[in-house]
Amino acid sequence: MTIKTENTAIILTGRCYCGVTTFTTTQEPQTIAYCHCDSCRRATGGPVAAFAALNEKAVTFTPNEGRKVAINPGVTRTFCADCGSSLTGRYDYLPGQVYISVGVIDQANDLAPKIHCHDSERYSWLHIEDDIERVTATARSKISHASK
Ligand SMILES: [Zn+2]
Ligand SMILES: [Zn+2]
Repeated sequence: MTIKTENTAIILTGRCYCGVTTFTTTQEPQTIAYCHCDSCRRATGGPVAAFAALNEKAVTFTPNEGRKVAINPGVTRTFCADCGSSLTGRYDYLPGQVYISVGVIDQANDLAPKIHCHDSERYSWLHIEDDIERVTATARSKISHASK
């Protein structure tokens, strides 16, 4: 679905659980990644996190990106200040990208992940049947500059 607004095509839309925080993007994701690391699980509350990597200049949050939380060095995550939905992650080693939690994107059913990151930390009972790449660590070299 593409909505034309003032000559800028909106590619993706999304909202938090309560709806106070919304966002739009004007570019396709650069990649979409599962992350099985412990930090992402705790931040999102799910058995695996999934994020869409976007050019940060292509994303607009309303009224803002939410509450910033920085627990791990070099990583800043944001959460809706009202309901706590996991919204974004930013990583110092992945400059220019913002990682949006797939579950808050309206079009997520069309955004199949391309890679499993930190697959070595995946829960032993979590079996996702796919043929996409699995890497044991961050895959930073694969997911940075992944723009098409
Ligand atoms: Zn909210
Ligand atoms: Zn992670």
